[in-house]
Amino acid sequence: MKIVILGCGRLGSRVALKLGKDENNQIIVIDKNPDAFILLGKDFKGKILEGDGANMETYIKIMTEKPDVFLALTNSDNTNIMAAEIAKQKYKVEKTIAKVYDPIRARAFEELGIETICPTLLCEKKINKMIEKAKVKESESDEDA
Ligand code: AMP
Repeated sequence: MKIVILGCGRLGSRVALKLGKDENNQIIVIDKNPDAFILLGKDFKGKILEGDGANMETYIKIMTEKPDVFLALTNSDNTNIMAAEIAKQKYKVEKTIAKVYDPIRARAFEELGIETICPTLLCEKKINKMIEKAKVKESESDEDA
């Protein structure tokens, strides 16, 4: 699969390294800050491109051959939403996923047909689960006493 990842930060770089392990995947990682590519290490086999996701020229460069997957993983909701929309609407990329911190915008965006990952909601769910587990443990130890 041809996979484009916008944003080579803590998440984007990890996803790129993981997906890049599969020889069938062709990965292109874009970041506006060239220092970000350090996170990929020396052995990363994919392509890297210095570019701004808020700039149409970036898309002209990367969309010459349509990707199968486009991941918008910068630290900006606005950039990720815009990038995913361009990939989906203009370049007809089948699978576009955007990281969106704001749960309200993430939901609204989902309704427009773009898949979103909301770290805020994922953290909230995880915290609730951890609290629930702690409650169960506490009640079990009360019963044992
Ligand atoms: P992190 O918060 O660690 O996941 O990093 C987010 C990454 O997104 C950083 O490496 C930023 O340089 C990158 N980034 C932020 N805005 C843009 C943009 N408009 N275009 C390309 N990369 C961006």
